[in-house]
Amino acid sequence: MSIVLSPGDVKLRDGRSVDFANLDIAATAPCLRVVADAVAELLPFYGSVHRGAGALSERCTREYEQARETVADLLGCGAGDTVVFTRNTTDAFNLLARALPAGTTVVTFDTEHHANLLPWADVVRLPAPRSAEEAVASLTRCLYNTGKSTLVSVTAASNVTGELWPVARLAAVAHRFGARIAVDAAQLAPHAPVSLAELGADYVAFSGHKIYAPFGAGVLVGRADWLDAAEPYLAGGGASANVAADGTVRWATGPARHEAGTPNLLGAVALATALRALHDADTHEQALVNRLRAGLAGLPHVEELRLFGPEAPRVGIVSFAVAGEDPGELAVRLGRDHGIGVRTGLFCAHPLTRRLLAEAATRLGAVDVPTQAVRASLGLGTTAEHVDRLLAALDR
Ligand code: PMP
Repeated sequence: MSIVLSPGDVKLRDGRSVDFANLDIAATAPCLRVVADAVAELLPFYGSVHRGAGALSERCTREYEQARETVADLLGCGAGDTVVFTRNTTDAFNLLARALPAGTTVVTFDTEHHANLLPWADVVRLPAPRSAEEAVASLTRCLYNTGKSTLVSVTAASNVTGELWPVARLAAVAHRFGARIAVDAAQLAPHAPVSLAELGADYVAFSGHKIYAPFGAGVLVGRADWLDAAEPYLAGGGASANVAADGTVRWATGPARHEAGTPNLLGAVALATALRALHDADTHEQALVNRLRAGLAGLPHVEELRLFGPEAPRVGIVSFAVAGEDPGELAVRLGRDHGIGVRTGLFCAHPLTRRLLAEAATRLGAVDVPTQAVRASLGLGTTAEHVDRLLAALDR
């Protein structure tokens, strides 16, 4: 039995039934069984977190704060760090953007997901580097000029190419110049343990729904001082410690300051359960992604999108351009005729994906640059048969 919940068999246009090959795990991962069980166990005890003195409320408050502790433990939080539950990664970056001390410049690369490209007010976008060395050199040059009041914000793993970024090296550069670094771990967390210390990160953000938990909860983890000093992200109950008759508000301290409104208990518990389970899971993912990339390399009409060299370490995400095919129609045929779910588009990273599509079209000798890429992403529940089915379908 698979460790994730799956929709089971799907009926193809020719009448056959096949096990659905979900190769769009990078968008939203299926739910782990242990996560579904943890949520189901809690449902009868559903009560409001941090509100009310009844047994239900007490239990729910305890479970919510335990989920926070689990995240803190697994990421290696220290005394000066905090864990704020958010809606998702996008929400986490927007919160951090609102908590920056006045005068902070954000430095990022123009290859980022929109979640880490758009929230910032004062931002420098460095051009796409072609190697880890180039990324490090480009950041060093930039920080030499921008100075101390800087937050560097980079992805740990690209949602377009699956390539890993040299985060620890970029963090060392940031710290050398007195800057802080935030890491978008949305695509790293599903594939590898996330550790603040190993990444050298001051802040890390990721989403529950990408680490095999249901939708609705994410986290911002990292240094508490900026968050404690900032205006609450949302004004309302929970974020306020006291509201006087004249309307004067004393805001709460700690993570509650940025978690106004009734907390998402199930989301937090699901996220923490998934994070713990992933620590122990053996994904066989590297073998599967190698199999997929080797297969794609053998198809003359398919060209993988990549920013760094072909050998760059990566997670289980591969995007590609297909010569002479409308990606949207291709995706429909893959679903209808082969029971395969892939993603097409520009993957909320428009500047990066457009650039890589243009390069792939040149390598393919194609006259027209495709307007969309196709992305296959692997993870728990993916089998070698799913990968081979995609390769055989593309070969046809
Ligand atoms: N960063 C990366 C690298 C992502 O892949 C995604 C999701 N596509 C996000 C951020 C945003 O995640 P969410 O939609 O859960 O906020």
